[in-house]
Amino acid sequence: MEILFFIKAAFLFLLGTIFGSFANVLVDRGERKESLLGSSHCDFCKKDLRWFENIPVLGYFFVKGKCSKCKKKLSFQYPMVEFCIGLLFLAVGFKTGLILTLSSSWSIIFETSYFLAIIFILSAIFIWDLKYMIIPDRLVLTGAVLTVVYTVVQYLNSSCSIFSISCFVTENLLGALLVGGFFQALFVISKGKWIGGGDVKIGFWLGFLIGWKHVYPFLLITYVVGAIISLILVKKSKKGWKSQIPFGPFLVISSFIFLFFGEKLLYLYERLF
Ligand SMILES: [Zn+2]
Repeated sequence: MEILFFIKAAFLFLLGTIFGSFANVLVDRGERKESLLGSSHCDFCKKDLRWFENIPVLGYFFVKGKCSKCKKKLSFQYPMVEFCIGLLFLAVGFKTGLILTLSSSWSIIFETSYFLAIIFILSAIFIWDLKYMIIPDRLVLTGAVLTVVYTVVQYLNSSCSIFSISCFVTENLLGALLVGGFFQALFVISKGKWIGGGDVKIGFWLGFLIGWKHVYPFLLITYVVGAIISLILVKKSKKGWKSQIPFGPFLVISSFIFLFFGEKLLYLYERLF
């Protein structure tokens, strides 16, 4: 049991670091509209990386964070993203029960694969928006399609009716309308000054993902996290309030909190208010 537990945990973490490496490539090459194929190279002198430099997380430390040819500093973003997505994949394994159960049924593998894909897409959106201030439609659309397919499969295996308010599909649809509708209203009122068009689109998807019951605490956490980080950034960089701070990363952090701890938070929230 213990050895199996360890193998599954190590596998998910390693898989996460490999996908983290892919997320770095996807964001930087995607933004520059370059092909995703082709070997990795130094951002400055274009020298191809050697095989061991491509090893997630460790590759960066093997070369002490510098390009072996031009000696320019490599971005710490690379190992950091790889490590964080490794941890997130590990967390998904605990959440779905894949790591802790002895027999891995198809339904657990299906659920785990779905959550890994969602976590990967959200992480890529987080980096992309933070770095380039844009949320790519293709990523949001891919995530939304996966969520709809997953929900349809869950619905077909359930006994609830879509016409009932307590059915999870209805709860998700209401969530999409509430978050997406709220962002759309902000967008229209401010003529796109308070919120970007990409935020409205991701709002519909995330609202569906978390369901209407979570909408209020979800928005509350998003804005509180956003306000704290913005305040730190404004103080640190002496940027004015007018300088743009991307909203996507806060939405992603809040979604992670709800994907992993949603039920517990809802319970806490209902007891408090
Ligand atoms: Zn170089």
